[in-house]
Amino acid sequence: MTPSLARVRQALLGWVYPPACAACDRPLDAARQLERPFLCEPCEATLVPVGELYCTVCGQGFDGVSSLAFRCANCGDRELAIDFAVSAWRGAGAGSGLIHRFKYGKERHLARLLGILLDEVWRDERLREGGPWWVAPVPLHPRRRRERGFNQSHELARELVRRAPAGIELRLRPLLRRVRATVRQARLDRRERLVNLAGAYAPARRLPETPPGGARILLVDDVITTGTTVSECAAVLREHFDIDRIAAVSVLRG
Ligand SMILES: [Zn+2]
Ligand SMILES: [Zn+2]
Repeated sequence: MTPSLARVRQALLGWVYPPACAACDRPLDAARQLERPFLCEPCEATLVPVGELYCTVCGQGFDGVSSLAFRCANCGDRELAIDFAVSAWRGAGAGSGLIHRFKYGKERHLARLLGILLDEVWRDERLREGGPWWVAPVPLHPRRRRERGFNQSHELARELVRRAPAGIELRLRPLLRRVRATVRQARLDRRERLVNLAGAYAPARRLPETPPGGARILLVDDVITTGTTVSECAAVLREHFDIDRIAAVSVLRG
């Protein structure tokens, strides 16, 4: 988007949503709005990056120094159907509040800010390798989507595609649908999550052909906690495509 178009769009958005920080409601000036829509500097400073050191499978961040590739205790003893997951930020500071307002406060416009925060996942070289990715949002059950008015993962996937870094080809492909409503995962432990999700996802009614060399699929979710949700989605997709690579990205690591 050209700077002037961005300004026009910002002016229109500012008219609908007065420019204030979504985390603390502090008013934002126009320049700040363009740079980081809906987030003030002090709140941005509370975001905690996942950092350099994280599990090569589920993306769980660790403090400390190590140059070794490793798996964390969360996923070392189980098989996930994804090749790897990368989260942009830890679920601390202003991050959790922003996601909460986005989803439960139905503040759809926050997708723009969260899309910018999601850019952080491109630090992972594995996402930059190879041909185009199909970007597949984690689906929401139709009933919940109606309540909320949108699927948060779909909004984020759209932003990810729109903001694709130069040289990286992304295509939005809603490959999955949610066929069974379940209890919110956030209330459950790891074992309960697995049982809760069994049979929850199915392939979309119309699927593209597997491209030559196998499908490269990038699942998108707002928060990845144990990786169970994205793994269930990946397992369904593996039944329908020859997979070259299947990864997952999220704004927050829960
Ligand atoms: Zn703030
Ligand atoms: Zn792990």
